[in-house]
Amino acid sequence: MVSRVIPVEPFDLVVFGGTGDLARRKILPALYRRFLAGQMGETSRVIGAARSVMDAAGYRDFVRAAIDEFDPVSAGDEGALAAFLERLSYVAVDATGDTGWDRLAGEVGSGRIRAFYFSVGPRLFGALAERLHEYGMADSDSRIVVEKPFGRDLASARELNRVLAQHFHEHQIYRIDHYLGKETVQNLMAVRFGNMLFEPLWNSQYVDHIQITVAESVGVGGRGDYYDRAGAMRDMMQNHLMQLLCLIAMEPPAKFDPDAVRDEKLKVIRALDPVAPDNVVRGQYEADGDKPDYRAQVGDPESTTESFVALKAHVSNWRWAGTPFYLRTGKRLKDRASEIAVVFKETPHSIFGEDAGRHRNILTIRLQPNEGIELGVTIKEPGPGGMRLVDVPLDMTFAEALGPDSADFPDAYERLIMDVIRGNQTLFMRGDEVEAAWAWTDPIIEGWEERGDAPKPYDSGSAGPDDALMLMHRDGRRWREIKP
Ligand code: NAD
Repeated sequence: MVSRVIPVEPFDLVVFGGTGDLARRKILPALYRRFLAGQMGETSRVIGAARSVMDAAGYRDFVRAAIDEFDPVSAGDEGALAAFLERLSYVAVDATGDTGWDRLAGEVGSGRIRAFYFSVGPRLFGALAERLHEYGMADSDSRIVVEKPFGRDLASARELNRVLAQHFHEHQIYRIDHYLGKETVQNLMAVRFGNMLFEPLWNSQYVDHIQITVAESVGVGGRGDYYDRAGAMRDMMQNHLMQLLCLIAMEPPAKFDPDAVRDEKLKVIRALDPVAPDNVVRGQYEADGDKPDYRAQVGDPESTTESFVALKAHVSNWRWAGTPFYLRTGKRLKDRASEIAVVFKETPHSIFGEDAGRHRNILTIRLQPNEGIELGVTIKEPGPGGMRLVDVPLDMTFAEALGPDSADFPDAYERLIMDVIRGNQTLFMRGDEVEAAWAWTDPIIEGWEERGDAPKPYDSGSAGPDDALMLMHRDGRRWREIKP
């Protein structure tokens, strides 16, 4: 199978924060890979814009070093890399002042798609939107890409939406959640809505519960300052895990188009029950050998920010009444592993004696490290010796069936940036979705603050605090093992 590359129209992409960490690690290498795939046409260009003063040659050296470091394999093609770097320029701008804006307006072409990636801290989003407008770059062909975090509560998210809406229409605003750009997440929708097999079973009558785990093995690292003001609830749960829950729980949209999909996701968020205090567990990691504990890492011995959160959620509608959704995410856990598991009910009656009730189908959607979808089915263990049952995985990534190229798909940032250029918002969060998600998480966070709840300590390299295990044990269920 040869992967198909859909051409996109010529574009100018301005990366505000083009010298930052995210630009270096993700955005610029992603653009280079799309260039290699032939998606940057003859004339498309990338313009870095940030505070540092440097010329285009300096920026090209900077980008070359970033690609060398973060995608050494692709960087090996010297001719292609040089040709890509030719497409790059740089303008030093001050988001909050006037420096550089006239020059930037002159650099950005007209009569072509213009995209502006806000890869800067959220406090600058409003200023950037305002200046794009003031300097004549905000026309109907322009679009902005906004990084997370989108607010820190409902009030700040509303304010951000309001400020952006002063200069851009909703169809021009791309709020990025890179989890939605993952190949497997889209495959999940294909599996759900492209087959007759699953949808009839996709409800509380047949699904016992759903687990969503996003586990990281690293600690807060160099992002301690930001992280300590956010915590796992704001940094991961309110956005990434909620989005995954929505895709699992939503009704089939009438079409695979941006508003149809996002309308259905919004209904899920609005159907979520408030979470009772005993259905949420927060945790903070302990030291691990010479690796410091959370508090030491963020430089605040009194910090009560959580590096782990687990909760039980209920989607109160006809489809899901009675089926709990268990969600957990945290740092310094056993492994880096993210998955969604749809755990079906046991068969109502076993004709196989002692195996009765032991087997159940589990549909696993693995997001990282090895993206893929697997369905666990029960079969007879081959060979003589009677009827012994065994669970085996049916691998639905089908790399074998589709050929080796099928594993060579664009990463989330590549796909999402190209969706911005194509003008396809399906995999981006709409303003009302983000607000609804905050409206659900705010009372949880406020409850912690009012009660003075402190996070429970947990061992680095574990599966989180014991209370998180209890969250499921008391329901007679257990978390799946965290393993890649
Ligand atoms: P960073 O601090 O590494 O880079 C910030 C960039 O903004 C720099 O290029 C800097 O020059 C520019 N900048 C700062 N003030 C400016 C001003 N007044 N005018 C013009 N440019 C200015 O930050 P980062 O880690 O790259 O994060 C960027 C955004 O992406 C943030 O919103 C962050 O929350 C989000 N994000 C980052 C990561 C990550 O892994 N780094 C992951 C997800 C989301």
